[in-house]
Amino acid sequence: MKFQYITLICFMALFGCGTPMDKHRENIKTSTGNQTSTTDDFNWNPENFSDKKIVRYQIPGFDKLTNQQKAYVYYLTQAGLAGRDIIYDQNYKHNLAIRHALENIVINFKGDKNTDDWKNFMEYTKNVWFSNGIHHHYSNAKFNPKFSEKYFNELLTAVKGNLNDDAKKAMFDPKIDAKKVSLDGTKDLIQTSAVNLYGDNVTQKDVENFYAKKIKKGDPKPISYGLNSKLVKDKNGKLVEQVYRVGGKYGLALEKVVGWLEKAATVAESPDQAKALGLLIKYYKTGDLKVWDDYNILWASTTKGDIDYIHGFVEVYNDPMGYRGSYESIIQINDFEASDRMKTLSQNAQWFEDNSTILPEHKKKNVGGVSYKVVNVAGESGDASPSTPIGVNLPNANWIRATHGSKSVSLGNIIHAYDKASGEGSLKEFANDKEEIANAEKYGDVTDKMGTALHEVIGHASGKINDGIGTPKETLKNYASTLEEARADIVALYFIMDPKLVELGLIPNTEAGKAEYDGYIRNGMMLQLKRLKPGDIIEEAHMRNRQLISAWAYEKGKKDNVIEKITRDGKTYFNINDYGKLRGIFGDLLRILQKIKSEGDFEAGKALVEKYGVQVDPVLHKEVLERVKKLNTPPYGGFINPKLVPVVKDGKIVDVKVEYPDDFTKQMLEYAKEYSTLPDYN
Ligand code: ZN
Repeated sequence: MKFQYITLICFMALFGCGTPMDKHRENIKTSTGNQTSTTDDFNWNPENFSDKKIVRYQIPGFDKLTNQQKAYVYYLTQAGLAGRDIIYDQNYKHNLAIRHALENIVINFKGDKNTDDWKNFMEYTKNVWFSNGIHHHYSNAKFNPKFSEKYFNELLTAVKGNLNDDAKKAMFDPKIDAKKVSLDGTKDLIQTSAVNLYGDNVTQKDVENFYAKKIKKGDPKPISYGLNSKLVKDKNGKLVEQVYRVGGKYGLALEKVVGWLEKAATVAESPDQAKALGLLIKYYKTGDLKVWDDYNILWASTTKGDIDYIHGFVEVYNDPMGYRGSYESIIQINDFEASDRMKTLSQNAQWFEDNSTILPEHKKKNVGGVSYKVVNVAGESGDASPSTPIGVNLPNANWIRATHGSKSVSLGNIIHAYDKASGEGSLKEFANDKEEIANAEKYGDVTDKMGTALHEVIGHASGKINDGIGTPKETLKNYASTLEEARADIVALYFIMDPKLVELGLIPNTEAGKAEYDGYIRNGMMLQLKRLKPGDIIEEAHMRNRQLISAWAYEKGKKDNVIEKITRDGKTYFNINDYGKLRGIFGDLLRILQKIKSEGDFEAGKALVEKYGVQVDPVLHKEVLERVKKLNTPPYGGFINPKLVPVVKDGKIVDVKVEYPDDFTKQMLEYAKEYSTLPDYN
């Protein structure tokens, strides 16, 4: 499973509160001192085009790795990139031919580049790179070139390039293969989807029959049927799977992948990691899905080490029938900073419980912190790049998850980069004064992360349910997740202003907490409404909980003007006048929310959520939408990968340097040069 486009969401909610998390990873090393994960002059968002923004991310903690670990990361990222062409071909049969033609033009065209035609050509090309093909990565609709076929032909002639007529038609005729993945159940899903996972004359019925025969009913350990093949009809009309493997389909790319994985295995952090890689290699060589399962079992239980990766034909969202996996890779390094924060909080969990505002009878005598896993991405490829998930939970096979566990990770540096790339404009638009902006810029990073850690580690772990009361799901029903998220948020809000955090070295001073309060109220009262369409009510649990807390605090503080609603030049702002009093109000709400959970008080919970968390002020909503629209921030983000450069001595990698390229086009052309492993058609 992957999680996308949801920033500022709770990790527990991503992966389900109460589901067993993977064992907390034991770290080989713990960091000391302050790691700065960002620099002020880093350009997070070098470019926008079409409906997309290009974002850069950093790899905090890379310099904490040993040289062997760095080499491991390097080989794994290379293995990922070596298979990059596969996703283009999987997405659509003409994608590689088209991409090759486009790249030839971008590299070799020497004519006028100031014309609208050329600009439109470049925008189209960038869209293709961004989506790994000629269909939009999210909407699945085919891109319409804003330049003519005639102009395209002129470009091709100028660079002595060519493209076959079918591929050209696919580019320019909007009726042909208009949708990458169609989920319109009234039509043949295979025939109406352009995705290249089935042969041209294969129908939905064919696929259904093929797997109905193949899949053994009641098998407790079913392999992932169809995951690594294309299903086609042979010349006698018989259905056959063309298996992705060395010597088979995509063999040329997988050969290179295997070469890098073999190198990675020699520098793995542990024998278990090396063994898992050995199974992955065997799987790519044989295409045997039983080996894929063996690999996943070992991978899921290999939790020691600072480095991990996802590599393979994994997610099945691109197959309208849900069988075939899209090629992807994500290389991850433990987020040492987050691990340290979590550890410090966990060790002090009892102090927070004892000093909470909740009623004594609702306090746990022995509270332990909840651990969650944050990683930093070192490189991505295939379906995970340039557009990336922000969290992943694997493996997908249910029986393996049930028996051997799964790994859930939140991609910390990706989420951070997203926030950096989009946050500034809305901060300046919605903050009431310069002081608020300055505070957010100074402390926003540290308090954001601290808020999340408090929410997850202390918030969700805190408080106990009275004896004989059922689980929140049973008692609070459809309000359970909103109320649980609100409770975890309010724990975080209450403690982020506590001197204890300064004493523990987790935040520089209590001033920092003010940035979190400002940001929370700004978002809860206004900014988050940007996600709703006019006339909508709030339905998503996190949005409900944020408005609930903000609106409740606003109302309770009204008599003392704790939070002031200001209208200036026709715009609304919320300004916090008294942070100390607001903290007291948060403490009151914390006690109330815990009481509702402890007693399983459905009516009280319902009343809170319905009164404060659901309804939208249509006038304010309209204002927010207009102000956000003016900011003109594209809805989709995709990432330039850092470049890992090995330092080789006597044939051995002795160090790896990280460079942060800032030109999307340049990176795409470099990838084309370095990692073109497949011909136009496969
Ligand atoms: Zn949560």
